[in-house]
Amino acid sequence: MYFNDYSTLVQQQGMLQDQVRTSIYQFAILENAADFRGKRVLDVGAGTGILSFFAARAGAARVFAVEASGMARHAEQLAAANGLAGEVSVLNQRVEDVELDERVDILISEPLGIALTRRPHTGCRPLSSLPPTGPPPPLRRRMLESYLVARDRLLKPGGKMYPDQAVLYAAPFTDAALYAEQQQKLHFWAQTSFYGAARRSEGRPSRGRRVDLSSLQESAERFYFSQPVVGPVAPHSLLAAPAALEFDFTTMTLGTPRRERRRRRGVRRLTASRAPPLAVPGAGFALWFDCRFPGSHRQVQLSTGPNEPLTHWYQQVRALLKSPIAVGGGHTVTGTMVWEANDARGYNVHITARNANTGVDASNVLVTQCALHH
Ligand code: SAH
Repeated sequence: MYFNDYSTLVQQQGMLQDQVRTSIYQFAILENAADFRGKRVLDVGAGTGILSFFAARAGAARVFAVEASGMARHAEQLAAANGLAGEVSVLNQRVEDVELDERVDILISEPLGIALTRRPHTGCRPLSSLPPTGPPPPLRRRMLESYLVARDRLLKPGGKMYPDQAVLYAAPFTDAALYAEQQQKLHFWAQTSFYGAARRSEGRPSRGRRVDLSSLQESAERFYFSQPVVGPVAPHSLLAAPAALEFDFTTMTLGTPRRERRRRRGVRRLTASRAPPLAVPGAGFALWFDCRFPGSHRQVQLSTGPNEPLTHWYQQVRALLKSPIAVGGGHTVTGTMVWEANDARGYNVHITARNANTGVDASNVLVTQCALHH
């Protein structure tokens, strides 16, 4: 089911049309053509093969475009139509199953989802600046894991990874309208006389012909708050400079060692530098990422931050707290965020936040999954 999502041209079109993303990948590869010249390259999750074609144009001797979905046949067609069938070999396989007689010099891939992970499609807001008929943001289902598997199985020791590093940022933000929106959605489930089937019982007071929905209110609340909200975040809504967490794709392992896990769970202290003198309600954390291409000639960075041009990742995902925490200028906000892989090829994200000055705290659990189609 997962790979089916990617076998549609409309899904791939959305990524190709993300000019920031596609042009920065092209720039990173062509600007560092010396890294690619005469080399063996493997494209993890090639889609239409676009990154493979950039690598071939940069002078790679052989490019393996590995694509698990049916999109592989379109990649093959494009390679032939562009005169690259000699250099680019499309392998319609999961990268986990690929066998090569010799390891490659470079891995290229675009395995990143929003906040470096996957996200469910629900909660995504349409943006007027993207094509109105455009597809939803791509859904990656922890594809980063496949990128690391490819590194261990198919990359020469010391080989390059494009990208090789990423930084995940989290900053507290304020957005009163978002809570109003949540309340409005929840209000629907507060209805005690919704139209529907008749329900009369002998001897008991008649409930009329309506249905009482309110017993589902709690479940609805849990559902709505478990959904990450995706969309751009206005830079002025951020209450503090972000906490940063670095990921090194060349060394990180799938089962993170315990000590590393503990370090990542560490409480971060952020000072609310940008809050006005009056307290504002802190709604949760905005998350975004940068990634880096380790060119020998020039290192290139792709950023999805609030001050950068919009990408198909919609810049930020917002993790809402169940109730807002008031934050004043100069206050210290502490928080934790624990990402726990779930069985739905997504994550359960446990977040907590506390205003260290007032002692007020709040928490939430977000769930990303592939059950809907992600
Ligand atoms: N590289 C393309 C497509 C990126 S989308 C581009 O930059 O435009 C990610 C692609 O990876 C999807 O087409 C998906 O089907 C594929 N994919 C995800 N996991 C994979 C795996 N384990 N093995 C092979 N392909 C995979």
